Amino acid sequence: MEEFEQAFADFCCAKHAIAVSNGTAALHCAMSVAGVGPGDEVLVTPMSFAASANCVVFQGGTPVFVDVNDDNLLIDPDKVEQNITRKTKGIIAVDYAGLPCDYDYLQRIADKYGLFLVADACHSVGGSYKGRPVGSLADMSTFSFHPVKNMTTGEGGMITTESDEYAAKLRLFRSHGITADFRQRMESGSWIYEMTGLGWNYRITDIQCALGITQLKKLPDWIQRRNEIAGRYDEVFGQECTGVSECGRSVRSASPTPNSLYTLKSTLPYPDTLTHARHLYPIRVPAMRRASIFSALREVGIGVNVHYIPIHLHPYYRNQFGTRPGDCPVAESAYEELISLPIFPSMTDDDVQMVIEQVRRVTERHYKTFST
Ligand SMILES: *Cc1c(COP(=O)(O)O)cnc(C)c1O
Repeated sequence: MEEFEQAFADFCCAKHAIAVSNGTAALHCAMSVAGVGPGDEVLVTPMSFAASANCVVFQGGTPVFVDVNDDNLLIDPDKVEQNITRKTKGIIAVDYAGLPCDYDYLQRIADKYGLFLVADACHSVGGSYKGRPVGSLADMSTFSFHPVKNMTTGEGGMITTESDEYAAKLRLFRSHGITADFRQRMESGSWIYEMTGLGWNYRITDIQCALGITQLKKLPDWIQRRNEIAGRYDEVFGQECTGVSECGRSVRSASPTPNSLYTLKSTLPYPDTLTHARHLYPIRVPAMRRASIFSALREVGIGVNVHYIPIHLHPYYRNQFGTRPGDCPVAESAYEELISLPIFPSMTDDDVQMVIEQVRRVTERHYKTFST
């Protein structure tokens, strides 16, 4: 386990890496050591997997959903600032699809109001921001090594941090709040251990870590291949986007080029100071046609998906926290249009071309029925 942690810390240029049983456990650990408790609000994006907000609830806190930027579907830093109250304790930023958020901007806000900043980097492992690797960009960064992610340990997770204090607390929370683990007791020849706080069993196994070490070595090549595939998709689906300003907001051309695929577009223009980890490749299609385009693609064997149903629209959040449609209009209307195309390193160029042709064929057919 220590070997995997050290390799991962080195890879991310982070001081500490603490391995845990999964990405949700990593988020829960982060919320615990950041001191989230009842009465605390944490600002989260709705455009993520539910665990990104659930971790706040595990600690008795309240997730406050902050809308995203329309062009990259990352949490909107201006809206973050608008949603800060006296109860706000921190921010969880999610690197949706693999694109790092604007951490310099978010960190300035966090510093100004004395908040913690956690990066949910479950999509962006292997990415970078202004030359700094993902994992070194926030107070804590959390990772998942579930089989669908950019690298896997079967199930697994990690938290990286620069803080010695956080690291020590994370290690305790991971293992029952107990000061010495079985191995350390064996080495010291003592039966003594102390439980100094309340913790969980969020340990990862050495077998999983061994897998993680080999996966990590392959990750840079995989990220490169993901970017090649995304680059090919961009040539076809990205025509609407003409340029990107330094802060990550796109400058979109007034009218799509004549041969662009109508209103079909990829969502993610981004500055070249970032390395996109390309975990997902979302495109946006007209909302009215999304369901039928989705089923038509599935029917011809293209493994499309939708990421994500905005978290605040799930019944649990509506019932427990009173969230409702209209709370985050940008995320909600993006969700109506989103389809994630297959993207994984072992796709061949022919596979990619096949996806492109099928998407073209299906969307053109739907566009024609739409416009007549
Ligand atoms: C996968 C994922 C998680 C949860 O990770 P698990 O390992 O499945 O618990 C959390 N946040 C995001 C953004 C994810 O993609």
